[in-house]
Amino acid sequence: MDNFVPNMDDILEQLPQRAREKHTETKKFFAKLAKKPPKDLDYTMEELHREEFRRTDCLDCANCCKTTGPLFTNADIERIAKELRMKPAQFVERYLRVDEDGDYVLQGVPCTFLGADNHCSIYGVRPKACRGFPHTDRKKFQQIGHLTLKNVAICPAAFNIVEAMKARIKLR
Ligand code: SF4
Ligand code: SF4
Repeated sequence: MDNFVPNMDDILEQLPQRAREKHTETKKFFAKLAKKPPKDLDYTMEELHREEFRRTDCLDCANCCKTTGPLFTNADIERIAKELRMKPAQFVERYLRVDEDGDYVLQGVPCTFLGADNHCSIYGVRPKACRGFPHTDRKKFQQIGHLTLKNVAICPAAFNIVEAMKARIKLR
């Protein structure tokens, strides 16, 4: 069968196992990357990120919104509460809790703002952490290997980007 493209449900079901199988190799790669990042790493990451998100449509997936929530900064809370015409304290009481690190997070997942069609009902004012996820185009990517090691088990795009990195960037 030529050009078989697995559907997103299958991809997401297999992702944690695939990430586990690659865990040791990826961890070693990130350790080397942190020690001696290539000079053009920012450029390479932008390119890999762009290529991947041309293929992967977040509206087919929404796995980050379904399985992990973002941190909410004070600025996020104020902005979203204003949009919802609520006081920040009301917003916190209704939707958030404080986690073990003292950060505001969602009371549960899937995210309460995620629709059945995978659209975010507060997209224009969504938390900064949601905007940046999976952070594969951020500058100095070598600094977030530990975080990305977790994200590759959640985000199929991050998984593909990291595999593409390993194929493209030769480290000693
Ligand atoms: S960022 Fe990753 S996990 Fe989130 S919806 Fe897009 S592909 Fe899925
Ligand atoms: S706020 Fe929107 S983008 Fe962020 S987790 Fe919830 S549904 Fe997803």
